[in-house]
Amino acid sequence: MIPYGRQDITDDDVAAVEAVLRSDFLTQGPAVPRFEAAVARATGAAHGVAANSATSALHIACLALGLGAGDLMWTTPITFVATANVGALCGAEVDFVDIDPESFNMDPAALEAKLDAAAAAGRLPKLVIPVHMCGRSADMARIGAACRRHGVRVIEDASHAIGGRHAGAPVGAGVWSDITVFSFHPVKIVTTAEGGVAVTQDEGLAAAMERLRSHGVTRDPALMQGASEGPWYYQQLELGLNYRMTEMQAALGLSQMERLGAYVARRNDLADRYDAALVDLPVDLPGRGGQTLSAFHLYVIRVDPTRRRAIFEALRAAGIGVNVHYIPVHLQPFWRARGFAPGDFPVAEAYYARAISIPLYAGLSEADQDRVVAAIASAVTEAA
Ligand SMILES: *Cc1c(COP(=O)(O)O)cnc(C)c1O
Repeated sequence: MIPYGRQDITDDDVAAVEAVLRSDFLTQGPAVPRFEAAVARATGAAHGVAANSATSALHIACLALGLGAGDLMWTTPITFVATANVGALCGAEVDFVDIDPESFNMDPAALEAKLDAAAAAGRLPKLVIPVHMCGRSADMARIGAACRRHGVRVIEDASHAIGGRHAGAPVGAGVWSDITVFSFHPVKIVTTAEGGVAVTQDEGLAAAMERLRSHGVTRDPALMQGASEGPWYYQQLELGLNYRMTEMQAALGLSQMERLGAYVARRNDLADRYDAALVDLPVDLPGRGGQTLSAFHLYVIRVDPTRRRAIFEALRAAGIGVNVHYIPVHLQPFWRARGFAPGDFPVAEAYYARAISIPLYAGLSEADQDRVVAAIASAVTEAA
């Protein structure tokens, strides 16, 4: 089976993890801050805060921005469930903004209209989380400006997008948002096995996220109530969690980050090859418009919705590990029980009915890619 995504592990990666295992620190040592600095440097941010997953990083990012009970949080229905779940975990009410059919990202016009209506009703969200679907940045200039106009905070879920660029800046530079979160799950661009990093230009938000990932505890006397009682002393200032990344994960990520540019370039080359090879088939290819360099986490083709299942099954039977990203979040039973229903976000639902993610990863050989193309060509004609 040619999978839809796969990690790339080199001898250097293995040596970096082994060195940590033989060192003094398995957690809370020097590798995590070095990895955080490497991610911040590569993405144009001042601060990076590592966590044991992107889900955890999104959760502490929401908490650091003050999201809580009685607040509203908005995201896109075309994302992994984690993006919406972190709002519910904070006690907030979650709602969605439909997508743009060309980019599969949150539609800025739909967001502007929904923000204006919410402002008129006196019920604005506290924060909005756009997602850079497939590695292509959402239209952050418009989304960020609309949110700023209404005093709404923004977290970019850039789980797919490390190494991407938008309007002249790396994704993560925080030009249009408060915090940006990257995932290092093995199918993503760069991996730490499990892991996430939140980057920000704001020192206060970085410090808050550092506390929240480690029980809400500080050892900084300047932040304490009253005087420190000695070198052992710490204080818990708020309710936090243990969301820490291990040293082994950080060492793997640090070693992988050296290849970030090469990974994104390779993914773009493979995407260009797919564009050329699939252009004459009855499938719609990913949109490439806008001033952005996609990190190309995913390559999604869209097919006739009445044949999507047959084409998907034919590809799986041919040994092609296709997948679907994503089932619209609002259609999950958990969210239907909170009042959502089919028809609520029609552009997202129409996209879902047609989408198939085909294999794309840095280690995909051109010969294997040609096999994928041949299988798609035969599946779309067979199914017809
Ligand atoms: C992978 C992913 C997440 C969750 O990342 P984890 O590191 O697995 O917690 C969140 N949002 C999106 C869009 C993702 O693709």
